[in-house]
Amino acid sequence: MNFLLNMFLTFILVMLLTSIPATNSALDADVQQRCEDFLKKYNTEADKLQREDTLASWNYETNMNTENKDKTISMTGKTSKFALESRETAKELLQIIGNQAPSDMNSSMRQLKLITRTSSSNNTEKTKEEADLISQMTAIYSKTSILKTIDKTNYRFKLNAHLLPIMSEVSKENLGNLKWAWKVWRKAVGPKIKPLYEKFVGLVNIGAKENGFQDYGDYWRKEYEVENLEKMIEDILKEMHGLYKKLHAFTRYKLHKLLGGSVIDENGLMPAHVLGMWAQNWGHLYNTMAPFPNKTIPDVTKVMQQKEWNNVKLLQVAESFFTSIGLDEMPNSFYTKSMISKEEGKKSVCHPSSWDLGQGDVRLKMPCMGVSSGDFITVHHEMGHIEYYLAYKDQPVEFRTGANPGFHEAVGDTIALSVMIPEHLANIGLLTDSVGDEEEQMNFLLKQALQKVAFIPFSYIIDKWRWSVFAGKTHPDQYNEYWWKLRKEYQGVKPPIERDDEDLFDAGTFFHVAHNTEYLRYFLSHILQFQFHEALCDLSGHQGPYHNCSIHNSTVAGDKLRDMLALGKERPWPEALAVLTGSKSLSSKPILDYFKPLENWLDRHRLENGYKLGWN
Ligand SMILES: [Zn+2]
Repeated sequence: MNFLLNMFLTFILVMLLTSIPATNSALDADVQQRCEDFLKKYNTEADKLQREDTLASWNYETNMNTENKDKTISMTGKTSKFALESRETAKELLQIIGNQAPSDMNSSMRQLKLITRTSSSNNTEKTKEEADLISQMTAIYSKTSILKTIDKTNYRFKLNAHLLPIMSEVSKENLGNLKWAWKVWRKAVGPKIKPLYEKFVGLVNIGAKENGFQDYGDYWRKEYEVENLEKMIEDILKEMHGLYKKLHAFTRYKLHKLLGGSVIDENGLMPAHVLGMWAQNWGHLYNTMAPFPNKTIPDVTKVMQQKEWNNVKLLQVAESFFTSIGLDEMPNSFYTKSMISKEEGKKSVCHPSSWDLGQGDVRLKMPCMGVSSGDFITVHHEMGHIEYYLAYKDQPVEFRTGANPGFHEAVGDTIALSVMIPEHLANIGLLTDSVGDEEEQMNFLLKQALQKVAFIPFSYIIDKWRWSVFAGKTHPDQYNEYWWKLRKEYQGVKPPIERDDEDLFDAGTFFHVAHNTEYLRYFLSHILQFQFHEALCDLSGHQGPYHNCSIHNSTVAGDKLRDMLALGKERPWPEALAVLTGSKSLSSKPILDYFKPLENWLDRHRLENGYKLGWN
C-alpha cells in the first residue's frame, strides 16, 4: 500500500515539476522586443507628462489661485488616463512573460512591475475628486488665520508668522498664550478638514481595493517591499524606548522645575502645549534644559544675522558642503526658479519642499524661509532631496525616486549631522568660542536628542493612526480618541485641555495629514540617517565618537554616497543600503551609539536628582 502511494506521489511530483516552465529559457524574441518598445515609449511620454504635471502643482503651490488649482486638477485627469493605459499594457506584458524572463531583463521586469503599482481607481472621476479634496484640505491648512481683538483692534494670527513663534517660547509668563495658540489652531482647522478627510478616506480605499490592496494603508506599506514592516518598526521602537523614556523623564523634571507642579505632574504625562505646536520635536526647549547652562552653545541665528547672511547665502553655504564631498553643484536654474521668499500678491504653501521637474530642473519652494539655525538645517534637508534627484536623473522614470521614501528624507539630514557639529560651525565662522570639551559636547548631544530622539515615537503614530483609519478600524467619531490614545502610549503626552467635542480632529491639523503625505518615511529617515552617518564617517577615516564626526571634504565618503543615490529605486532598498553600509537591515544601533554618552549622563542626572522614569 505504502509503496504504491509513494509511487503515485512521486509520479505526481514529476508531472508537476516537468509542467513548470524552466526559468531563463529563451523568451519569444517578439515579446522581448514588444517589451523594450513599450518601455522606450513609456519613458519618453511619462517623462514629459510628469514634467507638465509637476509644473502645474508647482504653479499652484507657489500661487494658490483658482486658475492654477483647476489646471492641477485637469492635469490629474490627463496623467491618470495615461497611467491607466500604461498599467494595462504593463500587466499584459507581465502576464505573457510570466517567469520566463532572462536575467538581462531584470531592470525591464522591475519597471513593468512598478508601472502596475497604483492605488488609483479606474474611474478617473474618482481620482480627480481625490486630488480636489487634497487641495481643499491643503488650502484650509495654508490659508487659515485666527482673528483676535486686542485693545479693540483686530489682528489676524497666522500659523507660521505668529502662532509658531508663540509656541516656541516656554515660560511661566507665556503659558496662557501657549494654551491659547494650541487651542485656536485646532479649533479653526480640525472641524473644517474633518468632513473632507472622511470623504477622502472612502475614496482612496476604493482605488486601493480595486488594485488588490486591503486598503490605502496597505498600499502605503507595500511601497517598502518588505514582508514584516510593522514588526520591523515596532522592534526598532522597543530598542529606542529606553533612551526616549530617559529623555522624557529629564524634560519633565526640568519643566516641572520651570513651570510648577500644577502644570507638569512629576510622574505623569506631559501636556502637549509646552512641547511645541504638535509636540513633534522639542528643540525649542534646549535653552531652558542645557545640561551645562554656562557652556551653552551660542545661538548661530544671531551670528548669521550679525554677518548679514540672506536666504541665498544660506543656500550657497549648504551647497558648498555637498560639493565638498563631490556631490553635484546646484544648476543655475535652481537659483533663478526656486521660491525662497514671499512674493507679493501670491498665496503659497509655506511648508518647505523640493521639486524635481525632470531633465535637471530642480527647485526649492520655501517662501517662509528666514535666516536662522532652524532654516539652515531645513535648507540642508531640502538640498539632500535635490542631490538625490540629480544623482538618479538618468535612470528610467520608474527608478527616479528614493530606494524607499525614508532614504529620500535621510540624505540632507545625514549631511546636517556633519554640518551641525560645533567644530564645523566654527570652521564656517558661525561659532567663535567653541572649546569642544565634554560639557559642551553634552549640551550639543541634548540639543540633537530634543530634535531627533523626541521625534521618533511621534513620527510613527501619525501613520499608525492613519493605517487604522484606512483599515476602517477607527471611525470618524473615534478619530480624536484614538489619536490621543496613541499620543499617551507612545509619547507620554496628553492634551492640555479637554478634547471631547465631536467636531475636533487634532490629527488633521498637522500638515502631512491635511496634505496626505505618508509619514513613516520620517521615522525611517531618523534611523537611517545615523546608519548613513556612521558608514560615511568610517569611510572618511574618522576616529572617535560619531557625534564629533564631520565628513566635510571627504570625496571617498561622497563617492560611496553617490553610488547609493544614483541607484534610485533600481534595486529594493535593503540592497541600496548595503551599497553604503554593507548591511541590508534597518538598525537602531548607530543612533543608540551616537547618543550613548548622553544616555549615561541622563542616568547619572536622574539618580542624583531622584526622579522617575515612565508615565503610567
Ligand atoms: Zn523632506
